[in-house]
Amino acid sequence: MRIIIFGAPRVGKGTQAKILSSHYKIPHISTGDILRKIIDDGKEIGLVVKDILSKGELVPDSIMKELIEKTLKSDNCKSGFILDGFPRTLAQAVLLEEIFAELKLETLFFIRIQISENVIVNRLTQRRVCANCGYIVNLNLIENHDECPSCRQLGTFTKRKDDEEEVIRHRLEVYHKTTAPILEYYKSKSDIIIIDGRKTVEEITSDIFSALEKAQSN
Ligand SMILES: [Zn+2]
Repeated sequence: MRIIIFGAPRVGKGTQAKILSSHYKIPHISTGDILRKIIDDGKEIGLVVKDILSKGELVPDSIMKELIEKTLKSDNCKSGFILDGFPRTLAQAVLLEEIFAELKLETLFFIRIQISENVIVNRLTQRRVCANCGYIVNLNLIENHDECPSCRQLGTFTKRKDDEEEVIRHRLEVYHKTTAPILEYYKSKSDIIIIDGRKTVEEITSDIFSALEKAQSN
């Protein structure tokens, strides 16, 4: 099973990727993990990557290609993988296509968890963290907006900077700008499985499984 999963920031893409990974016994490959690992390895390329990231710059596609190719070639990707966070640009999508051709990898499934921008903004701006126990709540989902449902402390909710509407809208804008062309690119080559991201984690998982079953039997 080879899967590429797409979704705007915070739609629960990582959660679903982890569930799929354990269900199909395939590695969950996130770009962040790959970069962290290469830095931890302490080899020359790791130092280069560390330097780039510490300047807040993007890792060049040529390096990403090398890292992704090496990862997909490794033994634990033999029976498949789930790619999360790559490709992030159209150029990376083209690179990935080259890697797949070189490694003769076929039958890919593209999953897109879709959700409207307003729903994400609404969800995230209502998110609070308990300063006492770290529990994360959505104010839309609890009745008492003053009491932490986990530790029962009163008045401990704080809002993270990341959850300010402006920050979220900016991240979404960047995401759409870079991802829309990638989806267009893949749409012309393959079917994309669209999943309704407004549902619960369990419902989304079950929708993904049934869509994959259906796609496999085609
Ligand atoms: Zn608490």
